[in-house]
Amino acid sequence: MKFNFSKSPRPAHIQESDWNNWTWQLRSSLKSQTDFEKYFELTAEEKAAFSEGKELFNIRTTPYYASLANVGVGDSIRQILMPQKTEIAEGAQQMLDPLGEKKNNPAPRLIHRYSDRVLFLITDICSVYCRFCTRKHFTGQEQAFIRDEEFKSALAYIKNHRGIREVILSGGDPLTVSDAHLDRVLGELRSIDHVEIIRIGTRMPVVCPMRVTEDLVKIFKKHKPIFLMSHFNHPNEITTEAVQALELLVDNGVPVMNQMVLLNGVNNHPAIVQALSRRLLYLRVKPYYMFQCDPSIGTDHMRTSIEDSLEIQRELWGHLSGLAMPTLSLDIPDGGGKAYLVPNFQTAHEGQTRKYTGWDGVEAQYISPLPEKIKKPLLGPYQEEWSELKNGKFLTN
Ligand code: SF4
Repeated sequence: MKFNFSKSPRPAHIQESDWNNWTWQLRSSLKSQTDFEKYFELTAEEKAAFSEGKELFNIRTTPYYASLANVGVGDSIRQILMPQKTEIAEGAQQMLDPLGEKKNNPAPRLIHRYSDRVLFLITDICSVYCRFCTRKHFTGQEQAFIRDEEFKSALAYIKNHRGIREVILSGGDPLTVSDAHLDRVLGELRSIDHVEIIRIGTRMPVVCPMRVTEDLVKIFKKHKPIFLMSHFNHPNEITTEAVQALELLVDNGVPVMNQMVLLNGVNNHPAIVQALSRRLLYLRVKPYYMFQCDPSIGTDHMRTSIEDSLEIQRELWGHLSGLAMPTLSLDIPDGGGKAYLVPNFQTAHEGQTRKYTGWDGVEAQYISPLPEKIKKPLLGPYQEEWSELKNGKFLTN
């Protein structure tokens, strides 16, 4: 089946040339209750969130993204962008820094948690402040693009740590910065010999797809290999504008992978996950992660239970191609790293024999060879490479 995608419903009074211009979208962002009232009939609860909730987390959306949400209170996209009074209610677990990033922050705007990669927060600004955001300790405080001395200090750290193979640009949203800034950041990183991969985590293809221009992909091509991590959470986010953006990226050799977050009442059903994943795969975007929502402050109402998430994944198993299946993953709070959540198909284990019941009820056993029969391959030069990778966090020049 081929999929049909629709154009975003541009309000008649806005010129098409403005609507399709990413800087216009950012300049015209909705930030106040009055701005939102131009697009939504707000409920009393939502109005209260504007006056009481703004302190907790900034409020902003592009007109484009707002236009996708304008169909009623329970709409999935509306729940992602609309502040709720429940954000300020007490919850089961509320953390300002659920990923423990402040503990792994060796240089300004740099998080070094894993051995071989760093997260580089080049801006704290996003074009939409998603209500489920995990990085509220940093995002949306309008500190904007990294200052020059911070940039130099972060670069010096990356240069001095030769075990860093990958730099993940994040934020905020790195694609809210200008082409000139991006070109400089990517150029400096690419000039560091030990940096192999640059990853860009962004919601712009979702919330402002007009950001993906011919000029932008030229910059990506110039500094390849660059991987782009998109953040679609719902199939209704895939408009013809988003399709154009994704095609421009992939046609120009930029691999795109998607990470979604399971959100309560938004997308926590296998019907929604399969719809999103199959459409993305058709557009050559690999569904990569399906995250358990972090217990970030103000997100209790948006989180699903682990049981609910595992059940969604178990139902998808066997029905959805492995290519389209995102990996369900939980970030262990307080900087514990990722834990993959996989349905348990093993029913018994004794000695070398394990018994399994497959997704559709087939029962069988798998018998492993005896431990003394297991031998290791010749490692050659890869032994040293492996040791360096494991100790990457501590290798300095
Ligand atoms: S775009 Fe990302 S960093 Fe920005 S508010 Fe949304 S989830 Fe948070």
